[in-house]
Amino acid sequence: MARVSEHQIEEIRRRADIVEVVGRVVPLRRAGRAQVGLCPFHQEKTPSFHVNPDRQIFKCFGCGKGGDVVKFVMEYHGVEFVEALRLLADQAGIQIQFEIGGSEEPKGLREQLFAINAFAADWFRRALIDEHAGAIAREYLHRRGVDPEMSRRFGLGFAPDSWDDLADALRAKGFTAERAADAGVLVKSDKGTYYARFRGRLMFPIRNTAGKVIAFSGRTLIAGEKAKYINSSESRIFTKGQNFYGLDLAVDGIRRANRAILCEGNLDVIMLHQYGFTESLAALGTALTEEHVRRLLRSTNNVFLVFDADEAGQKAMERAMDLFANTDVEPRCVILSAGDDPDSFLRREGADAFAARVAAAPTVIEFVVNRAFAAQTADATGRAKAVNALVPALARIHNAVLQSTWIRQVAERARVSEAAIRHEMRTLRRPRPEAAGASRPDTRETPRADAEKGILKLMINHPRFAFTFDEDRLIDLFTRPDLKQLASLVVERCLESQDDRDMRVAELVGSLEDSELQDEIAGWAMDEDRIDEADADLAYAEFGRRLATEFAKRRFDAVADELERARRDGNEGREMELMVEKRRLRARIDELAREGSVVS
Ligand SMILES: [Zn+2]
Repeated sequence: MARVSEHQIEEIRRRADIVEVVGRVVPLRRAGRAQVGLCPFHQEKTPSFHVNPDRQIFKCFGCGKGGDVVKFVMEYHGVEFVEALRLLADQAGIQIQFEIGGSEEPKGLREQLFAINAFAADWFRRALIDEHAGAIAREYLHRRGVDPEMSRRFGLGFAPDSWDDLADALRAKGFTAERAADAGVLVKSDKGTYYARFRGRLMFPIRNTAGKVIAFSGRTLIAGEKAKYINSSESRIFTKGQNFYGLDLAVDGIRRANRAILCEGNLDVIMLHQYGFTESLAALGTALTEEHVRRLLRSTNNVFLVFDADEAGQKAMERAMDLFANTDVEPRCVILSAGDDPDSFLRREGADAFAARVAAAPTVIEFVVNRAFAAQTADATGRAKAVNALVPALARIHNAVLQSTWIRQVAERARVSEAAIRHEMRTLRRPRPEAAGASRPDTRETPRADAEKGILKLMINHPRFAFTFDEDRLIDLFTRPDLKQLASLVVERCLESQDDRDMRVAELVGSLEDSELQDEIAGWAMDEDRIDEADADLAYAEFGRRLATEFAKRRFDAVADELERARRDGNEGREMELMVEKRRLRARIDELAREGSVVS
């Protein structure tokens, strides 16, 4: 896994101006000290999306999303942290070195790999439009009904059936064969010579969200060739099991439609785009992975799976269901008749018919349940078999409410008791690694959490409170673990900061992993929420008082319990001590209450 040093992250953050980065994709206008525009993350008619140039953060007061420049790129392009850094570095013209397993890669390696892929894409493209060489590929595309406009948009090309032509062309351009093999377009033979990986194939460039070619997928056009599709080998810029075909062109469509249509084949993606479903993409390679799912869910929670109706497609569907089972997202599946894929369906029935299938798409679990019953006879034996086939799928549903709903439905259809199904589920349940480990920290909203957040917000906007906070050891009064951790981070940053009027919020936000906390902090740090110094003092005192009260009350209850026990045990010495402590706490609580009535 590539790592970027803290130092480099800081540099990228410093040089990538958030107004510029956001402004490239969201039209912004000035409003006071902030810049506002229509939020790219939700549909709206009046702008509630704010970018603060001073603090280098964004916040949407409509949907709540917020954070620093890196988070914006992650959310907008649907990419992971490191890739977001790469995009920002590319835009700002910063060369970043990624540490890989402790050693640094040769300077500019990534740039060379991009350049080789770009050159190869262009070379394949020329071969496709070449009158003689490309005829076979053009014929194929024509037969499949691919518009020339789509062919251009997806950058399709043709790799002639030659072992040396591409290698020669690369050399003539000054690329070494060794690097071209690193890029995955050439292969090194046992004899040490290099030859073309793709021969006699229709070429589909795979591009990242910045539109750069990172690899190729090639479909054979030679009858009798065993491997129908092959992909570039892995490289520094291409990791299998993470990339989608068509993602670069689908990003906008997914955002607009707020849904993604995930299909199996490259040509399916192209045809779906051709028929107006520009939110379509395909997982590269054969199987969908957890990484794919994670990336997809960054962009939308509405996922439609279109898999072939054959056995392999069904297996792929069940696998997809497993991958989504750990999320709270329920994908839907678009069902086509046996023998159909999106390509053949669209050409025969048209876009409206496909849209209707999407609109009527059942959730995957619904589909799996229906299929299990349909595959068996309707008598008791058949129904029992269907239940047995479904038990593993039911056991994997992560969301408890959803799970119990489906257990009930399956029980009713099979005319068995829910208890029987639950019993079967228990017999196959093995402890999951995450279930065995720590439970999720308690992040429920309580009045105490409000006070904790209130203090954090004040410290962020008025860093002088960090000193008071530190001296009074207010952190000991915090109870929510994530907020407690955040508080010590904020104090650290505030105390470090030379300018006590403004801490570097973007850095703070960027250092957090919890996306929801990032959203929240970005909101606290917006100008709109700043209050004047005198009001801030009052608010700070009030939040501090509430925390102290809560703390004293918790102590009071604990002491009262212990006192009960001491009385029961007849431990008179301890009883006296506890009575004194209890009285002291009572007085403290009353005192805090009086202070509160003075303030309010
Ligand atoms: Zn929004």
